[in-house]
Amino acid sequence: MAKKEFKAESKRLLEMMINSIYTQREIFLRELISNASDAIDKIYYKTLSDEGLVFNKEDYFIKVTADKASRTLTIADTGIGMSQEDLENNLGVIAKSGSLAFKEENEAKDGHNIIGQFGVGFYSAFMVADDVTVISRALGSDVAYKWESKGADGYTIEPAEKDTVGTEIILTIKANTEEDNYDEFLEEYRLKSIIKKYSDFIRFPIKMNVTKSQPKEGSENEFEEVSEEQTVNSMVPIWRKNKNELTEEDYNNFYAEKRYGFDKPLKHIHISADGAVVYNAILFIPESTPFDYYTKEFEKGLELYSNGVLIMDKCGDLLPDYFSFVKGMVDSEDLSLNISRELLQHDRQLTLIAKNIKNKIKSSLQALLKDERENYEKFYGAFGRQLKFGVYNDYGMHKDTLQDLLLFSSSFEKKLVTLDEYISRMPEDQKYIYYASGESIERIEKLPQTEMVADKGYEILYLTDDIDEFAIKMIQSYKEKEFKSVSSGDLGIEADDKDKPSDAEESENKELFEAMKGILAGKVKDVKASKRLKTHPVCLSTEGELTIEMEKILKSMPN
Ligand code: ADP
Ligand code: MG
Repeated sequence: MAKKEFKAESKRLLEMMINSIYTQREIFLRELISNASDAIDKIYYKTLSDEGLVFNKEDYFIKVTADKASRTLTIADTGIGMSQEDLENNLGVIAKSGSLAFKEENEAKDGHNIIGQFGVGFYSAFMVADDVTVISRALGSDVAYKWESKGADGYTIEPAEKDTVGTEIILTIKANTEEDNYDEFLEEYRLKSIIKKYSDFIRFPIKMNVTKSQPKEGSENEFEEVSEEQTVNSMVPIWRKNKNELTEEDYNNFYAEKRYGFDKPLKHIHISADGAVVYNAILFIPESTPFDYYTKEFEKGLELYSNGVLIMDKCGDLLPDYFSFVKGMVDSEDLSLNISRELLQHDRQLTLIAKNIKNKIKSSLQALLKDERENYEKFYGAFGRQLKFGVYNDYGMHKDTLQDLLLFSSSFEKKLVTLDEYISRMPEDQKYIYYASGESIERIEKLPQTEMVADKGYEILYLTDDIDEFAIKMIQSYKEKEFKSVSSGDLGIEADDKDKPSDAEESENKELFEAMKGILAGKVKDVKASKRLKTHPVCLSTEGELTIEMEKILKSMPN
């Protein structure tokens, strides 16, 4: 039986494409600029193999011009251009990508900077324009052609005039409606900010005429508006630069420019990964807690770029919750994008990158802890709680990643200590890592329960944050030493015989203890003589998993 080809209702398909692929209208500019960049790249690749051609950098640029009077926005490039046939094939056939074909044909020559692949981006222009006109002259041709379309109704192609090789896309911007503002796409500042947001790292200059106020000639206090051509994009992404050429200030400027935060970052992490997955990333450990950090409103994530083009503002999948404070960006050529280039299919590459990033953040924090203790403590003051939540959450799955990053107050030092520091100075006969919890260091120091342990010369971790003890319980043991609350019944301290209450002491006071038990019925399980106390007459101790402090916290939680 003869196989039939699917037909498509192209009008409907185009409508659907235009109106349902993209969630944000402003990306039409990203798409058209990406196409222009691809067109220039193609000339560049041609010059690599064609001895007759030279690539003069100055000759290649993209120009964006808005004209409010005619409501037109023009995106012009000096790229490879399109022949009549190209116009027909690439702009007349939905989902046909000349750029993908080019990449495939030129695989050997590393066509990696080419962005296009789906053959749909161009049509996003119809989200903002009633009419799209393309005037193009192909490399090596003397004639130009004009392609014009008002959207779903189809297109026309006719010969046209154009002096230079390249393409001009002229959009007639829609009129404002009650719900929608289109005028903004004719505003200089708005266009500039869209270009900055998505296309800042396009490798060729994106020029715009920008109006500036300057003193009138011959006058000091009179000003006039002049139009000046400016390059809007930064072009060379800082993350593609060599680390050795970058200063701390460059990174700090990038942090400020990108508005990752208003503080100065404590540390940057610059990654150029070239292994199983190729990507570049610049990450920052901020210095201070964002105001909404510990609220539901806070959204974690890194900026995600594909080939220098922003595809996602906040990619949450790149960061584990316990490192949600990290800011920055990732750029990769290896991502599989879906056609809107907004969402990623959950692919292996992204998972690999996320895992890689997690390890880098961990080792950077460890380095900070080791080499810049003061900065680490600053960091810990801002985000330590999140690390402790990280230890506790997911049933302690991440404790191995995080336990070395934790700090606690201690009875030995006025500063915070790590578990490793605690262990390293433990006397040989000490069996456990002791801790005491309470509202504040002052209150903990007054606890009768700490006396016996302190008297032995053992260090005690002071847990003052309500998450502390939960995190400790999750860790269970560190370097084979278990944690022990000073208020637990069995402290594991070898009591000398003289320290043990004698039978006589027990039996002499039997009646008193029974009476006390009676009075405290339902509140305590037992009343016993103890040698644990030095200067206090009485203390509470617990048996089992929960300490008194934990019970308090659990009781205060809403059910
Ligand atoms: P994609 O960029 O994913 O291939 P588009 O719909 O954006 O899809 O563009 C379709 C095709 O039209 C491109 O692959 C390219 O061949 C051609 N094209 C679009 N814009 C230009 C341009 N400014 N210069 C040259 N060719 C272009
Ligand atoms: Mg495209």
